[in-house]
Amino acid sequence: MAKRDYYEVLGVNRDADGDAIKKAYRRLAMKYHPDRNSDDPAAEEKFKEASEAYEVLSDDEKRSAYDRFGHAGVDPSSGGGFQGGFEGSFSDIFGDVFGDVFGGGGGRARGGPQRGADLRYSLQLDLEQAVRGDKIEIRVPILATCDDCKGSGAKPGSSPITCPDCKGTGQIRVSQGFFTLQQTCPRCRGQGRIITDPCRTCNGAGRVEKRKTLSVRIPPGVDTGDRIRLSREGEAGPMGGPPGDLYVQVEVRTHAIFARDGRDLHCEVPISFADSALGGELEVPTLDGRVKLKIPAGTQTGKLFRLRGKGVVPVRGGGPGDLLCRVAVETPVNLTSRQRELLEELRNSMKQGGEKHSPKETSWFKGVKDFFDGLTS
Ligand SMILES: [Zn+2]
Ligand SMILES: [Zn+2]
Repeated sequence: MAKRDYYEVLGVNRDADGDAIKKAYRRLAMKYHPDRNSDDPAAEEKFKEASEAYEVLSDDEKRSAYDRFGHAGVDPSSGGGFQGGFEGSFSDIFGDVFGDVFGGGGGRARGGPQRGADLRYSLQLDLEQAVRGDKIEIRVPILATCDDCKGSGAKPGSSPITCPDCKGTGQIRVSQGFFTLQQTCPRCRGQGRIITDPCRTCNGAGRVEKRKTLSVRIPPGVDTGDRIRLSREGEAGPMGGPPGDLYVQVEVRTHAIFARDGRDLHCEVPISFADSALGGELEVPTLDGRVKLKIPAGTQTGKLFRLRGKGVVPVRGGGPGDLLCRVAVETPVNLTSRQRELLEELRNSMKQGGEKHSPKETSWFKGVKDFFDGLTS
């Protein structure tokens, strides 16, 4: 595939100076950086193209070779020109250009400031908190920039010195026969700077472990598995880089009365044997308080009653769900002799009515009888 002209890629004139080239690249890199365009594969190509153009045009030697010989003068795959020209990873280039933006602390911060890691915090909520929303404080263990050295890792009052081996470039040149190869400087491990007098608080790491108190706003309607992102509250970046994000992972505790299923709530309501037979009015709980529920005479156990709009308004919008109450008839226990007498009387009276009072029982016994008759014939 034919490569586009590097000046054209960056949108600069052929006589543009180093600053103009850097500016143009920074603008393109910001626009096409893969972290910001994770859903656009074309952006990554553009980002690579711009990075390659910048890699060449920002280096006086490579730029003059490119001016004279075009792509053949700098392309490692074309056989001529430079070898090892593209050793530096894109993140190296990126750190280079963005070092000052992210507070790299002066000098060429090779392999320098990087974004800190994203963190995850598991947060347990009561059902009521999750449904209504809340504002709560959490304490999170976090790697934060060291206050004493401001993240440099050098003892306060001192500062990292430029690496004498690579003169701060982070790269050393090694001659190998005809070619000169670039290698990451082993002394500073590509940082370009070394710390001679490390900060005592962080032992030179530039970051310390801290517990941070954060206020989290819980939007109404969240459910187990939802995540709340707290931008820039993650781990501090190495070398004073920008912090990552903190993801608060919601987990809703089991409730004593309600079980949640999406936007609906379920609950079980025990009712007395008499209420189920005679019908009546029950008080059932909802998240907003008690409501009355009419039970018709002859209500069977397991019957579901739907209370519209008494469920949950989901966090992603839409109307509220329903509350589904399942009644469970409770068989009376610990009877007094009087109650026993009444029930005996009831039993006898019902036997005389037969199918009329207990249709299910009657048809079940009929089924069993048919089954045994079938076996013996
Ligand atoms: Zn420190
Ligand atoms: Zn070095």
